[in-house]
Amino acid sequence: MGKKKMNLVLLGPPGAGKGTQAKMLVEKYGIPQISTGDILRGEIAAKTELGLKAQSFVQSGGLVPDQLVLTMLLQRLDKSDCQNGFILDGFPRTVGQAESLATALLERKAPLTGVLCVKVPDEALLDRLTGRRICKGCGVSFHISFSPPKKDGICDHCNGELYQRKDDSQEVIVNRLQVYHQQTSPLIEFYSKKKILYPIDGIGKIEVIFTQMCDILDNLDAH
Ligand code: AMP
Repeated sequence: MGKKKMNLVLLGPPGAGKGTQAKMLVEKYGIPQISTGDILRGEIAAKTELGLKAQSFVQSGGLVPDQLVLTMLLQRLDKSDCQNGFILDGFPRTVGQAESLATALLERKAPLTGVLCVKVPDEALLDRLTGRRICKGCGVSFHISFSPPKKDGICDHCNGELYQRKDDSQEVIVNRLQVYHQQTSPLIEFYSKKKILYPIDGIGKIEVIFTQMCDILDNLDAH
């Protein structure tokens, strides 16, 4: 069976499980996860010019200006590991970003294959995000009550130290959810009109949600 090239977007509110699912998809399909949030946090930690420009937006839960994120994303997409596909996690977040992405992918003759939209109601998101802990080593997420690590504060997979994202505080989460509803959720209609949107129920067991995603991806038309 020939390998399909998959250019994917994971869409959904913060805390929907996009990062967790993306990591499992990376394992299964061998294409990279591109998380603009992760790249931005790396730039901020390294105090690069981009990081310094992005910092205040990320801290407050607002969006980093489109042009900054777009330039950063395109640099990443042009790396050789994206040749057989990619999983965008946290990008696009505005209709403007989605339009720029479409143009850039057209130029690269690599249009999007599918957009998996993970649905989770706001009430569940707040609990998920406030309890989220992330491994400094491998980036895997845990939850202090819903999926706690075996040892407190230590990653089950790589023994890395777990930390809490600064923007996973209650006030910032409220802002991030508002930003999602105002600026990002219009993408559902945007991609639905393009007939590449696949809704996924994001409530339930991680493995069950993953199986649903794989069923969809395994039935996508080859490009
Ligand atoms: P995330 O890790 O996806 O939750 O992103 C964390 C933060 O990074 C967001 O709250 C934004 O401030 C910023 N960010 C990530 N991706 C984007 C994007 N595509 N456009 C604008 N800002 C972004």
